[in-house]
Amino acid sequence: MTRISVYDTAMKEKRVFTPADPRRITIYVCGPTVYSRAHIGNFRPEVTFDVLRRLLTHVYGKGVVVSARNYTDIDDKIMARADAEGRTIEQVTAQSEGWYEADARALGCALPTFAPRATETIAEMIAMMETLIAGGHAYAAEGHVLFDVAADTDYGAISHRDLEQMIAGSRVEVAPYKKNAHDFVMWKPSADHQPGWASPWGRGRPGWHLECSAMIAKHLGETIDIHGGGQDLIFPHHENEAAQSRCAHKGAPLARYWMHNGFLSFGKDKMSKSEGNIVTVDALLAAGHRGETVRMAMLTAHYRQPLEWNDDLLKQAKSTLDRWYRVIEGAAGDVDGDAVDEGVVDAIANDLGTPAAMARLSELASAGDIAGLRASAGLLGLLQDDPAAWRAGEGDRGDIDARVAQRNAAKAAKDWAAADRIRDELAAEGIILEDGPQGTIWRRA
Ligand code: AMP
Ligand code: ZN
Repeated sequence: MTRISVYDTAMKEKRVFTPADPRRITIYVCGPTVYSRAHIGNFRPEVTFDVLRRLLTHVYGKGVVVSARNYTDIDDKIMARADAEGRTIEQVTAQSEGWYEADARALGCALPTFAPRATETIAEMIAMMETLIAGGHAYAAEGHVLFDVAADTDYGAISHRDLEQMIAGSRVEVAPYKKNAHDFVMWKPSADHQPGWASPWGRGRPGWHLECSAMIAKHLGETIDIHGGGQDLIFPHHENEAAQSRCAHKGAPLARYWMHNGFLSFGKDKMSKSEGNIVTVDALLAAGHRGETVRMAMLTAHYRQPLEWNDDLLKQAKSTLDRWYRVIEGAAGDVDGDAVDEGVVDAIANDLGTPAAMARLSELASAGDIAGLRASAGLLGLLQDDPAAWRAGEGDRGDIDARVAQRNAAKAAKDWAAADRIRDELAAEGIILEDGPQGTIWRRA
């Protein structure tokens, strides 16, 4: 069996990956706060862990990987957006989720097994807080519930921060209801005009870290194989998730391996909404790039390395894909799963070495190994389009799927004008939509 190794942030080293149960491999990746359209940096974890899932499926078999990714759909940013636009938070979050799924699909990312929303996990969060309070790991004060960091001797194990240092160097203002500055909020009170849920501590809403702990226990189990996300989440988010789960589950660790992707930057800085230097997937599609080109560009850098985004990256990705598609054009039949090249598998199995995998794919292309090229590129989620369609530049299916999902999101948000506009635009391109009980399907006229 292929030996897989991954860099584990908590152990600070590359480790051989062995699943706890090879028939059910569990992965959780922290997902978006759904208040606006995500930028391509937000999709770096999506694409990275999609490749990991493809690798694990190849090595351990179909249906073995069970994954979850959350939607943070209650948050102060969402509330502010809804207020500013005179919409309900459900309208804001449904639209933003629809965008996210459309963009993820355009990038060739499979949906996770579970995509839970925070607002659907409130009962589990309340139960977890009750367990933590009963165990002496959390306390209630002034309508809040706080995690008592000092009661957890392992706090800091994921991010390698020492609590004494954190406290000494802290500029965190000590709220009157906190026992110490680093105690973090799991539950906070809601004013009458704010969204809230009944709880033993009064009407309120959850803090951000708690939802992931509750969702992981609910959908995947107390201890999962791999927990992932961007490097900015290591502290405090993942440290806090780990603390909550460990203390609620009698010391059982939350994850056996912790993996974190590096930042995608644009200009001098990390791409981020607050810096205002963002590029979105739909903007790239509108500019004529294909989702597959964007995905390819993202995978040209190793996931732990920084990735500087620019047009040249897209140009190079497109030209490599053009070359590979030319090689496989004319080859008939289905992809031959047995033709997967061991060199490509080994490169990806070595801590997701996508640059090395691409170098090997280029060798296969030069050698004219059509079956090997197509089957192996599938591990990266590349080269799965019809070569003739690619050459004709007619836009891939993912693009149409993405726009159908955008229309669904608009409908969910009761934005009928946008929904009709998308339907009319597709109709003008000869794509007919049919709404049925199973959702919307499309066909060519
Ligand atoms: P957020 O909605 O900001 O919580 O981000 C969702 C996911 O995207 C998290 O895993 C972040 O770590 C990740 N992320 C955000 N910005 C970037 C970036 N510029 N590069 C890579 N990953 C990012
Ligand atoms: Zn999380």
